[in-house]
Amino acid sequence: VAKRLEKFKTTIFTQMSMLAIKHGAINLGQGFPNFDDGKNQYARGYGVPDFNNAIAARFKKDTGLVIDPEKEVTVTSGCSEAIAATMLGLIDPGDEVILFAPFYDSYEATLSMAGAKVKCITLRPPDFAVPIDELKSTISKNTRAILINTPHNPTGKMFTREELNTIASLCIENDVLVFTDEVYDKLAFEMDHISMASLPGMYERTVTMNSLGKTFSLTGWKIGWAIAPPHLTWGVRQAHSFLTFATSTPMQYAATVALQAPDSYFAELKTDYMAKKAILVQGLKDVGFKVFPSSGTYFVVVDHTRFGLDNDIAFCEYLIKEVGVVAIPTSVFYLNPEDGKNLVRFTFCKDEETLRSAVERMKEKL
Ligand code: GLN
Repeated sequence: VAKRLEKFKTTIFTQMSMLAIKHGAINLGQGFPNFDDGKNQYARGYGVPDFNNAIAARFKKDTGLVIDPEKEVTVTSGCSEAIAATMLGLIDPGDEVILFAPFYDSYEATLSMAGAKVKCITLRPPDFAVPIDELKSTISKNTRAILINTPHNPTGKMFTREELNTIASLCIENDVLVFTDEVYDKLAFEMDHISMASLPGMYERTVTMNSLGKTFSLTGWKIGWAIAPPHLTWGVRQAHSFLTFATSTPMQYAATVALQAPDSYFAELKTDYMAKKAILVQGLKDVGFKVFPSSGTYFVVVDHTRFGLDNDIAFCEYLIKEVGVVAIPTSVFYLNPEDGKNLVRFTFCKDEETLRSAVERMKEKL
């Protein structure tokens, strides 16, 4: 656990309410109304039991790993909270954490909140492969963790088994943790998703984060989780306890049902997205972009430079105002914004008509 949380124990409310249940005592302790017959009061801090079980069952299906839903699963308010709780719960000021750029913006921000020193390795087009030598020389005795996001936002890159194996052996050799954001794991089109936790020797040093949002097209539910061995889970849970205390109770019950979806659901999701991806990718190529191959996620990154705008931000401004289409400039996803100035990101998680109209506008006006 990070030093900032060392002095804190399990919250007094959790302690007392657990004792109330254990001893069958009248609970005049924790402040929650009992004159209500729904599932509307605080959930257990680390998750509603049924949901923790469903997460463990899903993880076993996906990775083959058998985990303890009571000791190794923490339910959070979206993966964003899992990320924040992981950083604040496990990272001390001055610890070095390695990110691969471009990176989702909350990693750097939450590491900043935790006082970490961010080290950054840039993944470069066309394939965004991990520069292993650079990674080796970036790891130091102060490196506490490497953050991996696969499938990767914004590029759609999926870390290959070879890359993950190499990163894993470096982590074991140098006693480094892995924080892995796998929210796009069910949007893996060109290869099978591989969880870092499933590689030999890695479970004990990995925090695996995921959520319901992308898999079930429920981004507004804000239901996520972190899976980690007990010694890492303690840190995540302590931060979570004092960030949000517990996650929305009714949503956890609904989420339990979602997670038990049959295999056919996931197959259909993939087929639907592949059709959308084909429309957008072909459309962007027809418009004249250099489109970089995306293996997973619902994003695709393109080089905009042939249209003559100065950088990604200028291009996106032009695209919005003159063409009527929005894309995300990627320079915000780098420590050095210059590295992203040629690239912008489009998403294809929209209905087919919307994708086609956007392509039409760009064909006409760009
Ligand atoms: N994860 C989504 C994206 O990358 C949305 C993020 C957000 O709105 N904070 O576009």
